[in-house]
Amino acid sequence: MTRVYFDHNATTRLDEKALAAMLPYLRERYGNASSRHGSGTLARKAVNQAREQVAALVGAQPAQVIFTSGGTESNNAFIKGAAGMMKPGQVVVSAIEHPCVAKPAQELARAGWKPRRLAVGRDGRIDPADVAQALKDPTGMVSVMLANNETGVIQDVAAVAEQARAARAWMHTDAVQALGKIEVDFNALNVHAMTLSAHKIHGPKGAGALVLDKRIELKPLLSGGGHEQGLRSGTENVPGIVGFGVACELAGQRLREVAPRLAAMRDTFERGLSGMGAIVFGAEAPRVPNTSYFAFPGIEGETLVIELDKAGFELASGAACSSTSTEPSATLLAMGVAPEFARGAVRLSLGRDNQPEQVEDFLKVLSATVARLRRLTAIAV
Ligand code: PLP
Repeated sequence: MTRVYFDHNATTRLDEKALAAMLPYLRERYGNASSRHGSGTLARKAVNQAREQVAALVGAQPAQVIFTSGGTESNNAFIKGAAGMMKPGQVVVSAIEHPCVAKPAQELARAGWKPRRLAVGRDGRIDPADVAQALKDPTGMVSVMLANNETGVIQDVAAVAEQARAARAWMHTDAVQALGKIEVDFNALNVHAMTLSAHKIHGPKGAGALVLDKRIELKPLLSGGGHEQGLRSGTENVPGIVGFGVACELAGQRLREVAPRLAAMRDTFERGLSGMGAIVFGAEAPRVPNTSYFAFPGIEGETLVIELDKAGFELASGAACSSTSTEPSATLLAMGVAPEFARGAVRLSLGRDNQPEQVEDFLKVLSATVARLRRLTAIAV
């Protein structure tokens, strides 16, 4: 059975070109980028080239790119690192942040900070009036994700950044799920810091970056040899960084072609869904082109995902990162979705390898699977 992968918001296949660029740094070019000899210089040059490639994709300066082990580390590095430089105040995050933003923000309460969550509406977007209300209290930092990992809904980060700046707060965005799907421009977003991850854009796992306004000082998470401008000690993951750089370059070259193709497939899928009695979450809001988050009332998302997997289609239920838990998605609950509908949530996230025929085939399988599960549920009742 050929399997079809529809879970690109969880992770993506490593691009062959990224792999080819990485291999020499896993074999003969094994130098430490901090060493002064020829091997070290080769590694240093490769890291710096990748820094240019990452910076170019987001319109930043290479010196603003701090390499990390991925999105989780970058988000923690900003939130904890910023808190380490300021007097405790309010830390404002949206109610739908990934746990690697939500949890560090929450944990700052122990250090005297006041965590505050910005509510989202039924469409999955935050309301600028709520931001203004929150910022009436003295605020040290604000973090709002650019695109949500479950719904794909895009926030007006530039507008929030303007409000945050007016309140003299530092503004961060987690752009992990937006990169490679829409244009991401560090300066246009007007943020002080931005999180990126390689494995969501066909790069390797375990590489990412924090893009940082040079006027911002962070307390490093890791102390040691002072790598990455003193912000991230530890011998650089040269192969991972090289792969990340190439993945960024490819993402930039392909965005104009890939985004409309994915949007067309997603729209075909959702037209098919509408005839089956499904709900689509966040469909009224601007979304990244590859994501569709839906539910069939009365059918558990987990059950549907297992049945679809047996039929050769790989999707996620709820948030992929917490798919071991059966709690309904916190993002959907924040959007005011009733828990019984939220439990039905299934996410389709397309990638550049997917083809329209796969979506057509999937719609047939989905329709048959849903009909079968409905019959079983009817018997059970
Ligand atoms: N932020 C968002 C929005 C994500 O979707 C993810 C991964 O699922 C992360 C951060 C974490 O990134 P990483 O897997 O590179 O740690």
